[in-house]
Amino acid sequence: MGSRTPTTSIDLARLSLSHGEGVRLDLPVRLEPLELGGQTYAPKESIVETRIDLSRHSSGYAFRLRFPLNVAGPCMRCLEEAGVETEVDAREINQAGTDDEELTSPYVEDDKLDLARWLHDAAVLAVPSQVLCRPDCAGLCPVCGESLNDADPEAHEHDTGSDPRWSKLDELKQD
Ligand SMILES: [Zn+2]
Ligand SMILES: [Zn+2]
Repeated sequence: MGSRTPTTSIDLARLSLSHGEGVRLDLPVRLEPLELGGQTYAPKESIVETRIDLSRHSSGYAFRLRFPLNVAGPCMRCLEEAGVETEVDAREINQAGTDDEELTSPYVEDDKLDLARWLHDAAVLAVPSQVLCRPDCAGLCPVCGESLNDADPEAHEHDTGSDPRWSKLDELKQD
C-alpha cells in the first residue's frame, strides 16, 4: 500500500475508453497541507487512497472522486488541536468543444485529468468554514486571551467598570 508511487494526473487518451465505457481506478494521491483562514491543516496521511470513476460519453467525460479526508490543525476560535474527518465525494464533467464553464472541468487540460489539484480543491471545499475543537467552543477571552473553555464563567470576569479610563468615558458621555 505505502510503496505505491502517488499519482498526480490521469492521461485520458491512454485509457482509450470508447463511448459509453467507464473505468474505476483506486489510486494513491499526495495531499499537501491545506491553508484555511490563515491556519494550516495537515493531512494525517500525506498519501490519500482515492477512488476515481471515469466514464466517457459521446461528447466528453464524467468523473467522480471519492476519498477519506482526515486533517488536523488549530481550532479557529481557541487554537486548541482540532480536526476534520469526513468522506469526500466530488464530481466533474468535461465536454469537448464547449466554452460553457458548467460543462468544462478546470482539472482537464490536454486530455489529462489533474488529480492532485482536484484532490486538493475538493479537500478544501469539504472542510467546514469554521474548524472547531468542539461545536460549542467558547473561544478565547477578548481581554486576557485565556481559553474560556477551561475557565469557570463565574470566576472569569474582568471588572472593567472600575477601570478609571472607563469612568472617565462615562463622565464624558454624560456631559
Ligand atoms: Zn476551540
Ligand atoms: Zn479574561
